[in-house]
Amino acid sequence: MKYRKDKHGNDVSILGFGCMRFTGHGPVTDYSKAEREIMAAFKAGVNYYDTAYIYQGSEMLIGRIFESNGIRNQVRIATKLPHYFLRTRDDFDKYFNEQLERLRTDHVEYYLMHMLNDVKSWERIRELGAVEWITEKKEKGQIGQIGFSYHGNSDKFCELLDAWDWDFCQIQYNYYDEHSQAGRTGYDHAVSKGIPIVIMEPLRGGKLAHDLPKEAEELFCKFGCRNSRGSSRSPAEWGLRWLWDQPGIMCVLSGMNSLEMVDENCAAASDADAGCMTYEEHQLLQDVISIIRSKTKVPCTGCRYCMPCPANVDIPGTFAAYNNRYVDGFFTAEKEYMMCTTLRKDVTAAGNCVGCGKCENHCPQGIAIRDELKRARKVLEGPVYKIARKLAPLVYKY
Ligand code: SF4
Ligand code: SF4
Repeated sequence: MKYRKDKHGNDVSILGFGCMRFTGHGPVTDYSKAEREIMAAFKAGVNYYDTAYIYQGSEMLIGRIFESNGIRNQVRIATKLPHYFLRTRDDFDKYFNEQLERLRTDHVEYYLMHMLNDVKSWERIRELGAVEWITEKKEKGQIGQIGFSYHGNSDKFCELLDAWDWDFCQIQYNYYDEHSQAGRTGYDHAVSKGIPIVIMEPLRGGKLAHDLPKEAEELFCKFGCRNSRGSSRSPAEWGLRWLWDQPGIMCVLSGMNSLEMVDENCAAASDADAGCMTYEEHQLLQDVISIIRSKTKVPCTGCRYCMPCPANVDIPGTFAAYNNRYVDGFFTAEKEYMMCTTLRKDVTAAGNCVGCGKCENHCPQGIAIRDELKRARKVLEGPVYKIARKLAPLVYKY
């Protein structure tokens, strides 16, 4: 296992265990399987475990596993505050204390504001006393470092990074989505500020590992690269290496759900270093991206030349979700669309478009953006979206 430093000089394994899937959205059913997988990862050197208040059952499960195996002092826990549920200053303690109890610990090494998608949401919780509360928890040693997890566009991500002195951040990033969400622009900004990055969705929910077009798989096979274990590099390993190649990335989270996956990912994490990829390997991934993109609805590369839109439409974010509708299915795309454009005060959904056409002059792909936005809106802003948009402010505060 390779390690990188966090902002305060601690060693963090470059592979982290994403513990969300231990619950899905229901109760944990297979404790011993989860324990075997977590302990296999721990023995292979994984020391970063990511969970959240809203991953039902996940905090309790890892707390129990760490305690019963006596490894709490050898692992680093990252969990997340559901800031969108907070109504008063006392709610910070209410959720945090419940999390400590679930995790069977008196402190967490990393604490994230969960899905903090714009500065306004941060300002809302600041007004509730977030900064004073964080300072107090840090002084007492109950929280090591503070970060946030993010889904939104790169502009808002950079604003958020500048809005406070964060210790780390967590973004969705992979070779296919290099220019979606926070993307390369966000990566560069975080690096320029010395803020370490944790990666979620490194393989697009497994799509870059198991659901590549046949032609893309053939390209990988033809390239014929072998890893230090003597076997062909798998599509998953290619995806992980692309991330580890980048020195600003502290840790890549993987929701490993079998011992084979734990073994494979841990072995890959022992092989990879910053700068490990050659020019030819980067070219290969560009070819794979072209193949995947040729199967999508709108050939948007996420370059953002069309932005900013005067009506505040997140054009590349909308197209990314629209394309995902045909790759990952309706609910995944709808969730992505909601998170990227709607769960915030300043909604950036396709419905904002006033048809001025300004964006189309700048698109190097020659996309008929107005027409495509109308199509995307039809697909993404149906009855499910409308209901969710109405209900969201009742549940989430932003
Ligand atoms: S056409 Fe629509 S998306 Fe394009 S710049 Fe105008 S308002 Fe924005
Ligand atoms: S300019 Fe075109 S390709 Fe680039 S993000 Fe906008 S729509 Fe996508």
